[in-house]
Amino acid sequence: MRILVVEDEPDLGDAVLRHLRRQGYAVDWQRDGQSAQEVLSYQQYDLVVLDIGLPRKDGFAVVRWLRGQGNRTPVLMLTARSNIEDRVGALDFGADDYLSKPFDLREFDARCRALLRRTQGVASGTTVIGELEFDRGAKVAKLRGVPLTLPNREYRLLEILIGNIDKVVSKDEIASQLFDFDAEGGANAIELYIGRLRRKLGTALRIRTVRGVGYIAETTDSGDEA
Ligand code: CA
Repeated sequence: MRILVVEDEPDLGDAVLRHLRRQGYAVDWQRDGQSAQEVLSYQQYDLVVLDIGLPRKDGFAVVRWLRGQGNRTPVLMLTARSNIEDRVGALDFGADDYLSKPFDLREFDARCRALLRRTQGVASGTTVIGELEFDRGAKVAKLRGVPLTLPNREYRLLEILIGNIDKVVSKDEIASQLFDFDAEGGANAIELYIGRLRRKLGTALRIRTVRGVGYIAETTDSGDEA
C-alpha cells in the first residue's frame, strides 16, 4: 500500500508521514500541488491525502486534474477549520472524503482504512481463506484463531498477496506498494519477507514463486507441502 501525502505545513506533514510509515505503509510526501501532480502522473498510489491550501497549485486543482486524467485513486482532502465551502468543494471536485484540521490521528486512520479498503474492492474488512483469517480493521492475521506476530512490512506484504489471491503479483508491483522513494528495499528484502511469511503460514496459504516474475498466493485445500 502506497500513499501520497500532499501538505505544505512541515510539522503536520512530518507527523502524518511518520504516523503512516509506522503502520508499514510506503509514503511519499510532496509539499506543493505542482510537484504532487508531477509525481501522480507516473506513480500509482492507493490513496492520496491532499491539503487544499497549497503553494503553486491548490488541492482543488490537483484533484480536478487527477479525475480529468481518469485516475480513480481515492483522495482524502484535508480542509481548513470548519469551512463549509471547502468541504462541499472537496467532494464536488472529485475527492472521496474530507477531514477537517485539526484532526485526531485515530479518526484519520479510520478514514484512510475505509478508502484503502475501497481500492482493494473488498466489501468486508475481513478475508477468510481456509484456516487463515485476515482482519484489516483490527490489523491482525489469525491462523486457526491464533494471532500471528507480523511486523508491519510482513503484514502489508500479506495484505498485497491476499488482495490478489490466486493472481500473480510482480516483484515490481510489490516493491512499489511496500517501499516509498526514501526506503531502502528491493528484491532481496521482498524475498526475505516472503520467506518469513511462508514459515509463519505453513500450509494455510501457499506462496509460490513464479520465476522471473513474482509471487502468487494460492488457496490450499489439500495437505500438500508448499
Ligand atoms: Ca496548507
